[in-house]
Amino acid sequence: MTLHFDPQSVRADFPILSRQVNGHPLVYLDSAASAQKPRAVIEAMTRAMEGSYANVHRGLHTLANETTEAYEKARESVARLINADLNEIVFTKGGTEAINLVADTFGRSLKAGDEIIVSQAEHHANIVPWHFLRERLGVVLRFIPVLDDGSLDMEAYRGLLNDRTRMVAVGHMSNVTGVIAPIAEIIRLAKAAGALTLIDGCQGVVHLAVDVKALDVDFYVFSAHKLYGPTGIGALYGKAERLAALPPYQGGGEMIGLVEEQRITYAEPPHRFEAGTPAIIEAIGFGAAVDWLAQFDRQAVAAHERALYDRVVARLDGDNGLRILGTAPDKGGILSFTVEGAHAHDIAQVLDRYGVAVRAGTHCAEPLMRRFGVTSSARASFALYNTEAEADAFVDALAKARRFFA
Ligand code: PMP
Repeated sequence: MTLHFDPQSVRADFPILSRQVNGHPLVYLDSAASAQKPRAVIEAMTRAMEGSYANVHRGLHTLANETTEAYEKARESVARLINADLNEIVFTKGGTEAINLVADTFGRSLKAGDEIIVSQAEHHANIVPWHFLRERLGVVLRFIPVLDDGSLDMEAYRGLLNDRTRMVAVGHMSNVTGVIAPIAEIIRLAKAAGALTLIDGCQGVVHLAVDVKALDVDFYVFSAHKLYGPTGIGALYGKAERLAALPPYQGGGEMIGLVEEQRITYAEPPHRFEAGTPAIIEAIGFGAAVDWLAQFDRQAVAAHERALYDRVVARLDGDNGLRILGTAPDKGGILSFTVEGAHAHDIAQVLDRYGVAVRAGTHCAEPLMRRFGVTSSARASFALYNTEAEADAFVDALAKARRFFA
């Protein structure tokens, strides 16, 4: 059965999609960088600020209790999204902070010569925090090579695993190519080698159903803002026993058990890792985004996004000056490309004149760009609210841009 999803049915939920840009209807193809927000999210955040707001966890008054309840309910929604238990979800500033949290706290148990495996396809957020450990402790970083089609070299990965491997940290779906990594197999092999696993789900969770229990992953991280939620918040999933074994990350209010002049104890997870006043309104928006998303058949949405990608690729077929980065079959709706004779930034700027928003640059993935032998690429990324007409508008605007630089 082919699952069908109609983007028109959701477009009305996104006020921003009706705006004009440079005299053209907005064609927003930059959702891999950050997605637009549905009314359900905007209204949940406004409702909280207008109707019931106070600081969380510390009060005995009604508004504090209501806000705490809303904040913890958001945690429930996020936990449900990935089949986690409630105490396994830590709210962070985003995917980046979640990885830094794990690298910093787990990293304190590492020593020189311990090895961490990442891949060449990683976003800098899943490279730099591990580099810190290399710089500080002499931990060795190993990179799973990327094959020409953008997929990971699994044979090479098997060869990298050894008894010094302490952590395998890879992305679920590349933000550059959209190629999906075989994370179940990656996790299985890492476990067999005695290593922990972290999956950067910043892109993956947006397009794929995630079940952390079925995956048996130790850590899974993502940001709300790519998932149709607000900026400033994300989630770290950690298996209960893994989180319990980690020391605190930042110190401050809420993360403690008891503080004396010469002694301190810490709260249990997840609060141990949520020092200070959290992003309360954003958490409520995050929960609203996840609840809103739950009404859709995720597979049908992914098929829709992929169909838009296929439509564009079919229309661009035969264009010899255009190179697509990442052509492996298992990929989502992200199209990274270079154009002969034109810089990606220039392409993006010309597309913008026609109201088409795409990203251009290194996409915070320099090792991958180097692997492909390019310094930058343009990227069109498709979300559930994009339509076939928009895919066509992109191809038409790209043709005009090509003529401009011919
Ligand atoms: N990992 C991947 C794969 C991403 O696409 C991004 C965002 N571009 C990040 C990590 C970092 O996410 P954030 O900036 O929201 O922390």
